[in-house]
Amino acid sequence: MQINFISLASGSSGNCFYIGTDNCRILIDAGIAVRTIKKRLHNAGLDLSKVCAVFITHDHIDHIKSAGVLSEKLFLPVFTTAKTHNAMDSSYIFKQKIYSGKRIIEKNLPVAFDDFTIEAFGISHDGCDSVGYTVHFGDKRFTLITDLGYICETAKEHIINANYLVIEANYDEQMLDSGKYPLSLKQRIQSDTGHLSNRQTAKFLSDNINEKLSHIWLCHLSRENNLPQLAYKTVNEKLKEKGINVNLYVLPRTAPSDVFVLEN
Ligand SMILES: [Zn+2]
Ligand SMILES: [Zn+2]
Repeated sequence: MQINFISLASGSSGNCFYIGTDNCRILIDAGIAVRTIKKRLHNAGLDLSKVCAVFITHDHIDHIKSAGVLSEKLFLPVFTTAKTHNAMDSSYIFKQKIYSGKRIIEKNLPVAFDDFTIEAFGISHDGCDSVGYTVHFGDKRFTLITDLGYICETAKEHIINANYLVIEANYDEQMLDSGKYPLSLKQRIQSDTGHLSNRQTAKFLSDNINEKLSHIWLCHLSRENNLPQLAYKTVNEKLKEKGINVNLYVLPRTAPSDVFVLEN
């Protein structure tokens, strides 16, 4: 069984990730236009019509923008927690609502989905009920956590057990401090329900991960307060200090990543 992972977009302009086998293809988040999802999948040799479900991390628009269209026009089931569905239902900026495709996933209750078992778990962010996802296949685990202010115990457990990890490195602390964002926004980003800095992610990973983790993709980089080279360097240096050998990548904000083949 071959498993492919592609980031179609990652950051505050929109998030969408693809993970799939020949039988089972899913999207995590749908924060970019459907035509862009379609085109980027097509360019990778994949067909949106073969995608069988969408999983949503939280109700911020950069994660949900197209979820309604995928549900109602393309008839894809959209899985997320009941609270996030309610928040999407009542959001005035989320125009196309989800009706027929509404599916509830309970946190910490893995659901079997063809070749995958998918588990949602709670994380700390200012979405109404933010989750990360662990996708189990064979004896391997792929964990995706974007948008979080700090790493709570549950998130920690998922990260340290992952073989493949997508994790946020949102901002460089100095760039945010000296940047032009208003103080209230800086405080929101730095808070426990905001975003992870490069340093926080670097420190957590270098202190906690073990040899079963083979790939790390840094995601949701800020356009204003980060640079891909800086995120990479901050995390890479910390990992190297501890002698940790892992494949480290930075996901592009507005372009698709390479296609990664995951071993199971
Ligand atoms: Zn976001
Ligand atoms: Zn968010």
